[in-house]
Amino acid sequence: ADALARAESLIALTPDFPKPGILFRDIAPMLADADALADVTAALAAPFDGEFDIVAGVEARGFLLAGTVAATARTGLLPIRKAGKTPHPTASVDYALEYDVATIEASGDLTGRRVLLVDDVLATGGTLAAALSLVERLGGTVAGVAVILELADLGGRARVPATHAVFTA
Ligand code: 5GP
Repeated sequence: ADALARAESLIALTPDFPKPGILFRDIAPMLADADALADVTAALAAPFDGEFDIVAGVEARGFLLAGTVAATARTGLLPIRKAGKTPHPTASVDYALEYDVATIEASGDLTGRRVLLVDDVLATGGTLAAALSLVERLGGTVAGVAVILELADLGGRARVPATHAVFTA
């Protein structure tokens, strides 16, 4: 618990980024710390030990954590990309952003595979809800959803109910 508290203290609070009024949580200093990276990686996967065959993360920061979690658990990794970067996507999902719509895509077949979805921050839940549908469209079963930090006031949990959050703000 002390180790995780130390890791949490390395998340930098950056006011007015990327826009005025937004308090951005920058995980870069936490990733740069050897113990924090290992401890947070372990904490993300801990509740799902042995329950997943592949880890999926959404571009871009989700990729980092999918990488550490998958390599630690010795599973495969599925990169979920933003539109236009996957040569032959087998599934794609549109979702609403604050002022815009975005698309995520992936290729491959997840039939019979148990997928752990990971991301850095759960904000409104739009990104993870879209990633959940994408995994299901690829034929996978979502074994769990894990984030480093849940921003509870934004209510994302309503859209991604069983999410395991290592930290809550
Ligand atoms: P949502 O779709 O839940 O509203 O937004 C979550 C996505 O936006 C995540 O993929 C996350 O990387 C990014 N995000 C939103 N707010 C923050 C933040 O304060 N810090 C970081 N690092 N990412 C954020």
